[in-house]
Amino acid sequence: ATPTALLVGTGRGAQLGLLIKGPEVLESTRRVDTIVLDKTGTVTTGRMSLVDVVVADGTSRADALRIAGALEDASEHPIAQAVARAARDELGPLPAAEGFANREGLGVEGVVDGHGVQVGRPSLVAEWSLPVPSGLDAARHAAEQQGRTAVLAAWDGAVRALLVVADTVKPSSAEAVARLRGLGLRPVLLTGDNAATARAVAAEVGIDEVIAEVLPADKAAVIRRLQDEGRVVAMVGDGVNDAPALAQADLGLSIGTGTDVAIEASDLTLVSGDLRAAGDAIRLSRATLRTIQ
Ligand code: ADP
Ligand code: MG
Repeated sequence: ATPTALLVGTGRGAQLGLLIKGPEVLESTRRVDTIVLDKTGTVTTGRMSLVDVVVADGTSRADALRIAGALEDASEHPIAQAVARAARDELGPLPAAEGFANREGLGVEGVVDGHGVQVGRPSLVAEWSLPVPSGLDAARHAAEQQGRTAVLAAWDGAVRALLVVADTVKPSSAEAVARLRGLGLRPVLLTGDNAATARAVAAEVGIDEVIAEVLPADKAAVIRRLQDEGRVVAMVGDGVNDAPALAQADLGLSIGTGTDVAIEASDLTLVSGDLRAAGDAIRLSRATLRTIQ
């Protein structure tokens, strides 16, 4: 039988904008000491926009936008949507990509106007053994120091452009992190994005532990590793990518504005998407359990 206090706690959660899967969820939060936060869409809004296009010698901005935009138009990734939207706004309708392939956590590849194209992180274009022009590399580092994400576009045997997208930290994220610390939790930022961008975002919200460049398939293993170190882990995420990690965590929290897959995999949903509700969830469960014991 479920203690009445847990049911009351669940009801109180609903008032706080917390959708709790079952009363027993409140018990599993008891010993949580670490809270892993996904970056894109959880700490940040996840609504990205293209803020800069840097081209190599011999490549025009229009070509870079058309070719990269056409390829990204076939992808659902927030980076891809930002690139495709900007390209369409500037150039009008884009050509259709053929042979599109999504390379999870790396980027995309396919054929546009007869050119074999890759758009993604440096390790993706490295598969084609193409050197990155020094101007593009310098621009990438500068963008990452500012917390932006920069992806390379390569076609016809050369890396030809750098596309810089910017996401914004949710206004409530820094306060949410401060509250989680106030509850004695260690916040950790987890992302597939590069380390420099991740550190810049972490600094903006007051997190000092960063685990970056994690492939989607490895996020759950990161949680398991923290658990093996003896930590009791809550994870907050929004993406399809995050679902296995949410399931692995001792307590999985999803963002209400996130994907259905993440919501399904989680124990508890922060309905409004405001990260401050994560602290409310921890406080509620502690209060509920104090009532029982
Ligand atoms: P996150 O964990 O932050 O949601 P992902 O695992 O989805 O990140 O992606 C990790 C990195 O892979 C991105 O930062 C980007 O460099 C690259 N990437 C993934 N998908 C794309 C895409 N469609 N276009 C360009 N780059 C991409
Ligand atoms: Mg995300």
